[in-house]
Amino acid sequence: MKDIMPVNGQFAMMALPYENLGTAVSRDTLSFHHGKHLKAYVDNLNKALPGSGLEGISLQEVVRKAQGGIFNNAGQVLNHTLYFEQLSPSPRPMGSHLESLLGRDFGSVEAFKNEFVQKGATLFGSGWVWLSMDSDGKLVVTQQRNAENPVTDGLRPLLTFDVWEHAYYLDYQNRRADYLAALWQVVDWQVVESRL
Ligand code: MN
Repeated sequence: MKDIMPVNGQFAMMALPYENLGTAVSRDTLSFHHGKHLKAYVDNLNKALPGSGLEGISLQEVVRKAQGGIFNNAGQVLNHTLYFEQLSPSPRPMGSHLESLLGRDFGSVEAFKNEFVQKGATLFGSGWVWLSMDSDGKLVVTQQRNAENPVTDGLRPLLTFDVWEHAYYLDYQNRRADYLAALWQVVDWQVVESRL
């Protein structure tokens, strides 16, 4: 993942690289999730940065160093950037390199997906489920609460599913596991592999 840098002290609102995600996520959910929720996190972060001592550094560094409101908003900007960028209505398949790593560390791609969905479905409250690479090169699945991101634990984030209710409630109501299962249809694995 490239460092995300501010311009003139402000982080830009990412543009969505697509207009829909097929049947996995509705246009209404996409519109609220990107245009309202992410927009609020970006605006709140940019308002809080001046005078904070965290100006001029990458978004990833802000997440590693900040606490309180700045951490929450910076974390959510980073998490949503990774989330939206890895999805596509015409996703590219997984390559053999990532497939072999998943097989090595989880037994199989299916076993990885099962663990990922299980950890996403059982995360209590709001948060994110992540696939990351640790400092030894091993792939791990973690649950992170609220705005947390694996970069604060020294991990390299590769893939994430948002399990805040705003990510799925309009489409799936309480059926979080169905939302998580449907998201596999729109994961662009070439984007995920580019983060290795
Ligand atoms: Mn979200």
